[in-house]
Amino acid sequence: DEAALRQGQKMEATGQLTGGMAHDFNNILQVIRANLDLLKGEVGDNAAMASRVQSATAAADRGARLTQQLLAFARRQPLTPQPTNVARLVGDLTDLMRHSLGERIAIELRVADDPWNAKIDAGQLENAILNLSINARDAMPDGGTVRVEVSNATLDRRYAALHRDVTPGPYVLVDVSDTGTGMPPEVAAQAFDPFFTTKGDGKGTGLGLSMVYGFVRQSNGHIRIDSAIGQGTSVKLYLPKTEDPVAEERSDQGSAVSGTE
Ligand code: ADP
Repeated sequence: DEAALRQGQKMEATGQLTGGMAHDFNNILQVIRANLDLLKGEVGDNAAMASRVQSATAAADRGARLTQQLLAFARRQPLTPQPTNVARLVGDLTDLMRHSLGERIAIELRVADDPWNAKIDAGQLENAILNLSINARDAMPDGGTVRVEVSNATLDRRYAALHRDVTPGPYVLVDVSDTGTGMPPEVAAQAFDPFFTTKGDGKGTGLGLSMVYGFVRQSNGHIRIDSAIGQGTSVKLYLPKTEDPVAEERSDQGSAVSGTE
């Protein structure tokens, strides 16, 4: 798919560029930060000065956080795809999601019967789901529901013919959906672009969805967004099914013998 190829090239070039820049910029910020710390010790009882040093420090910290995110994006740790019980991974993640989404957001988990295993990097999938659920929260300022649904899905040849980055076959489908604002078509069209964000005030980096995109494509999976204004958004990750057993399950059986009675 030409668009997918272009997206990949864009991400690679952007990754190299940002890696170098973020690194240099981080060093500069550390110098600024260290000097602000020294200044702070010298303002004495000058409250106006103290408040300026304070706000400069806060800005430097915000810059440092941003460069950290950029570095993580540029580094994009190599994936170690392994047979993974996706349903269990999602179940284990709900506590963390509850904490990061706050009280106004309800979390709903749905798992189909006998879900398949997928060959993916488990840590990256956790990051992806957290990223998607935070986007969902941001799209529901008055509260709402994030639903994470795990099911088995087979993409057929007809679907693959329409989406040329897709290999027909069996996938584990992780669908993260919300009841939020939805995306206008022009936002949906750019949502995977690195640095594309509609969140002002430095709140967004525009890297969340492009990282999720990169993870899914590197896993030989497929990602799509379905969104309706005023109704909500669904981001679907199709992760390649594997017949291989999940490594942990075998060791779990071993430890069950020496159980904790
Ligand atoms: P960021 O969250 O930092 O803005 P992302 O790459 O994760 O970066 O998202 C890019 C843009 O896509 C967001 O700024 C927002 O406009 C849109 N978006 C992403 N997820 C959703 C969602 N669940 N509902 C509505 N809009 C979304």
